[in-house]
Amino acid sequence: MENSVCNLYLVDYGSLAQLVIREGYRRLLIQAPDGLKPLYSCITSFLTNEVGGYLEIYLSSSPTYGACDIAYDEALRTSSEAIIHVGHTRYPWLTRSSIPVHYIPAFYNWTPSAEDIDLIVKALHEIKARNIGILASTQHVQSLSKLSEFLTNKGFETITPREEGFLDGQVIGCYYKHAERISNKIDAYLVVSGGLFHPLGLALIVDKYVFGYDPYRRTIWNATSYAKKILVKRLYLISKLKYSSIKEICIILGSKPGQFRIDLARRIGEEALMSGFKIHYVVSDKLDFDRMVAIDNALKSNIYVVTSCPRIPIDDLSDFYKPVLTPGEFYMLVHGVDKYVYPW
Ligand code: SF4
Repeated sequence: MENSVCNLYLVDYGSLAQLVIREGYRRLLIQAPDGLKPLYSCITSFLTNEVGGYLEIYLSSSPTYGACDIAYDEALRTSSEAIIHVGHTRYPWLTRSSIPVHYIPAFYNWTPSAEDIDLIVKALHEIKARNIGILASTQHVQSLSKLSEFLTNKGFETITPREEGFLDGQVIGCYYKHAERISNKIDAYLVVSGGLFHPLGLALIVDKYVFGYDPYRRTIWNATSYAKKILVKRLYLISKLKYSSIKEICIILGSKPGQFRIDLARRIGEEALMSGFKIHYVVSDKLDFDRMVAIDNALKSNIYVVTSCPRIPIDDLSDFYKPVLTPGEFYMLVHGVDKYVYPW
């Protein structure tokens, strides 16, 4: 393709066009996270050229941070026959709708260079690690086999965790069970991912070193040191709450299709009632500082427990003026557990 943006990511445009032709779709909603929205022009021009005939395409401008957040409402409003969701794979806990969702991965077109490998090797040698668990966010999973090959050539053993429903080595910010399972076989984890999000989540729960490698910035960073600072804050918050007089708890549900965890919310509600607290349930599509102020003005609860995305209390609302907990942290509080529990 001529547009250079289209070559930054590997997208199987041919299979996508075949799918649209096979299913006979004439009206589609395409949705991508903000970082991948530049691919909209690549996808639309390819489909328009290849599919032929009349094809109406709607592009979602709304943010989406994971496959938990599917734009069913926009698809319904536009009478779209299907949603093409770019950049994520299916979220295991998604509430289904009558509208089919097709997940189109977009893999960053990157192969580790000799300089990348030198940086990684230096960091792993510094902690004397030899057996390495390698993982990646969805955009970088396809680089893991090359990374493994290069590290093996440098004398390391690598293990790529696998999980049904996930790509090999893939991590998302609220699921690390497969990574935890290999913990006793490795000395350290290496997570290939842009930004802090994915390595940090893993570093909160495992007892091994976690390094993040950012292929956009070409930097390696120690997620374990960063996570330690966060854990100190979270554990202090929970221990302070243990000795405070809590009367009311507000349990916040998310209405996004993969974040509506009604069973979890009810379980938390039952435990709160058994512990003698008054409870409120709130449903919120988006949850940020302003929404929290509006909720707190209405309810004035002592604690808020977020059941939608477990990263919101940690990454976005840790400085809110009332305690905002993940389900795992609430569990620690009522059961007197000291080891950090994430996410639920
Ligand atoms: S971490 Fe949050 S945004 Fe990401 S998939 Fe999980 S619930 Fe969705």
